[in-house]
Amino acid sequence: MKIALRVIPFAVLAVLLSCHWAKEPVDLLVRNAHIICLDGGGTQAQAMAIHKGEIVAIGKEYEILNAFRSEAVEDVQGATIYPGLIDAHSHLLGYALNLSQTDLVGTMSWEEVLEKLVDEHTASTSLWVRGRGWDQNDWAIPEFPDRRELDRLFPNRPVVLHRIDGHAVLANRCAMEKTGVWNAQAVRGGEILRRADGTPTGVLIDGAADSLLARIPEPSAQTKVAALRRAQKLLVALGLTTVTDAGLELSDISLLDSLHQSGDLKLRVVAMANPSESNFLAMANRGGWDTPRLKAQAFKFYMDGALGSRGAALLEAYDDRPGHRGTLLQSIEDYEAQLRRIHASGFQAATHAIGDSAVRLVLQAYKRVLGGPNDHRWRVEHAQVIHPDDLNRFGESSIIPSVQPTHATSDMYWAGTRLGRGRIRRAYAYADLRDELGMIPLGTDFPVEDVDPRKTFLAAVSRQDVNRFPEKGFHLDQALSPREAMLGMTLWASLASRTEDLVGSLEVGKRADFLVTNRDWIKLADPHEVLDVEIVKTFIDGLQVFPPLIP
Ligand SMILES: [Zn+2]
Repeated sequence: MKIALRVIPFAVLAVLLSCHWAKEPVDLLVRNAHIICLDGGGTQAQAMAIHKGEIVAIGKEYEILNAFRSEAVEDVQGATIYPGLIDAHSHLLGYALNLSQTDLVGTMSWEEVLEKLVDEHTASTSLWVRGRGWDQNDWAIPEFPDRRELDRLFPNRPVVLHRIDGHAVLANRCAMEKTGVWNAQAVRGGEILRRADGTPTGVLIDGAADSLLARIPEPSAQTKVAALRRAQKLLVALGLTTVTDAGLELSDISLLDSLHQSGDLKLRVVAMANPSESNFLAMANRGGWDTPRLKAQAFKFYMDGALGSRGAALLEAYDDRPGHRGTLLQSIEDYEAQLRRIHASGFQAATHAIGDSAVRLVLQAYKRVLGGPNDHRWRVEHAQVIHPDDLNRFGESSIIPSVQPTHATSDMYWAGTRLGRGRIRRAYAYADLRDELGMIPLGTDFPVEDVDPRKTFLAAVSRQDVNRFPEKGFHLDQALSPREAMLGMTLWASLASRTEDLVGSLEVGKRADFLVTNRDWIKLADPHEVLDVEIVKTFIDGLQVFPPLIP
């Protein structure tokens, strides 16, 4: 640089310097990038200027570099930049707390389960020993385990281990005593397995497992904070900058707010409140939460259960269980009354509905409250099985279907058995649903499915699992294009949570949430290549959150 300066005539140097000082100073310049703005048009850019966490200019390299200067310049060397990813339906706190449970998925024997528990919990300070994911069908002796060894290893600490399907747990004696299940004779809707002498083996099925789980004390705020911080690290490493929590108590929403205030949590959160009477009153009182990082303006309802356990409410009986049509979890009158109150307060409604009967009832109730086209952004979560007569009700009343592409590729192995040939054609119909409003927000429902947005992209675009099954895709006519899959995890997800003024695309005036990646996902020749794509860096409010600057 010294040599170069010597040969530049003084006049030219003066002009250069004056230009430099005429430029507007900003906190960060991002340059030399292939920026996919996902603003709804096909806008691309090479550089952006960021100040106080906001995008103040975005466009061609020379335009931005001529107009702005900064001490901090992020030259990404031709890498691709996308808006920060949004998971439109997930469970942040549940995911975070699960991280502290020992992962037992893939264990090959009961001995391996015990070894893992001892490794992870001997030194831990929490009283409860939790694990999840065991499956006795994978073990050399494929029989339900017995609590004997757990009692020996952890005589004074309660141990609860969830089976992989979530329908059974194994508990030790201490856990059963603490929760009152030890002395229970029978439990409604469930079973306590017993040894020949009548004492419990520790295996609790359905209702029995639920009654034990319901009596486990809430984790402390301290435990939750540690869990959320751990979760944040993993999420931003995947390019996620906003996640949803579809169903929280207000004390937990308030905890998230305080973590945002203290700076411990950088991740943006869209929180939906559980629809209890006290939550409704408190939300109406304080107007929910609406900070740049926390949006809590919605209530989450459940109309039915899930297809796997035949809890989803269907119009006609299950194909593999004659006479059974699943279960509705709401009285329609109560539900509608709650919807009217929510509507009057300007809040958003989101309702879990999986079976075609549940979806129909939700759409009908929404329509009675909302009428025709509107901008309230009420949502149907999952919207998995839809009767053809009901499809256009989404468009008619501007109701947003919120779907999870990896549910389709997780369920496809058995969903046809539940639904039969006709109905399976109308299930997981994401392209039909997209056509209703010209958009469809995508999520994962993590921790139910993998949090990884690359898997959502793959499932949405290829309708295959990671092993390319089925060869021709599961109802490939319902696939989304690569661009739509990215919009579903960005702009469309922001529309579904009424955060599109802040995030969802890279545009002037929006927060500078973005990820730097080594490939342009939309241009991949084979969608399966997405699994090898790297998230190089993630920024929230123009600040690098991944890789962490302070580890
Ligand atoms: Zn969910």
